[in-house]
Amino acid sequence: MQIASDTLSLIGHTPLVRLKGPSETTGCDIFGKCEFANPGASVKDRAALFIVEDAEARGALKPGGTIVEGTAGNTGIGLALVANAKGYRTIIVMPDTQSKEKMDTLRALGAELVTVPAAPYSNPCHFVHTSRRIAEETPGAIWANQFDNIANRRAHIVGTAEEIWTQMDGNIQGFTCAAGTGGTIAGVGLGLKEKDERITIALSDPHGAALYEYYAHGELKSEGSSVAEGIGQGRITGNLEGAPIDTQFRISDTEGLEWVDRLLKEEGLCLGLSSGINVAGAVRLARELGPGNRVATILCDTGFRYLSTLYDPAWREAKGLAVSRS
Ligand code: PMP
Repeated sequence: MQIASDTLSLIGHTPLVRLKGPSETTGCDIFGKCEFANPGASVKDRAALFIVEDAEARGALKPGGTIVEGTAGNTGIGLALVANAKGYRTIIVMPDTQSKEKMDTLRALGAELVTVPAAPYSNPCHFVHTSRRIAEETPGAIWANQFDNIANRRAHIVGTAEEIWTQMDGNIQGFTCAAGTGGTIAGVGLGLKEKDERITIALSDPHGAALYEYYAHGELKSEGSSVAEGIGQGRITGNLEGAPIDTQFRISDTEGLEWVDRLLKEEGLCLGLSSGINVAGAVRLARELGPGNRVATILCDTGFRYLSTLYDPAWREAKGLAVSRS
């Protein structure tokens, strides 16, 4: 075991774990990339570091500067920790529907938190537009713009994809995950296709998102809704442009939650719902590819971020979701 020289060098290089239940159910080997093991406990630390270092390299972010972003929470946590380690200030705009744990974590990290009511993207008060306005009005500030800034997906081309390829010794037939900004699916997809274009890249889309219909039938159209935080996209973001999606699944919260509960009870993994949706997608992809294939997915963040929601039986009941059997 090596000693890391600083906190930022702990971002990435995450373990890959074989998921026993999903593998046994399908006769395949299904692997989860443990992104909850990042210092900010989510996959978004990678994008945060790349976005900040890209802004520094372009000369847009100068010593003492401010980083402003609109986020479901995890990118904000990543940006705040990177900012602390590098001496910047952070202003984070979040919809008020996100978990209390994420807001408390952001405040603890010293980010200035602005919450806005959840609104459609077309509404000027949407958290993304609000964050852009704040960045424009704040001297010395940059707008991280994770949705359209492709420094985000570059983190997954040179980091996540490369690591998965090496960890699996180049023996991988499929990859799937859901999209928030799309940085992960597009970056890992592009990175893996560069290694072997036969690898099937599948999008696992939650209900309420428009990408399933787009990749299946060329039309951005959504149906239903999801309580999953951090995923569910309604447009082709800059990061999604040119993403090599071969196939797509629509995954319900119930299907994702079943895996969240099973992975906790049977394998001791405490995850958020986007991870459950990803694992459900990996099971579907493995079934399509057939027994003996090897599939990877992303375990996006820690379930400790959702103790007051997913892991609270009263919250689940209020949302009409199945309460986990113990
Ligand atoms: N899961 C969680 C919990 C997230 O916070 C995010 C980021 N919004 C994602 C998945 C999706 O990642 P990406 O933005 O790279 O599509």
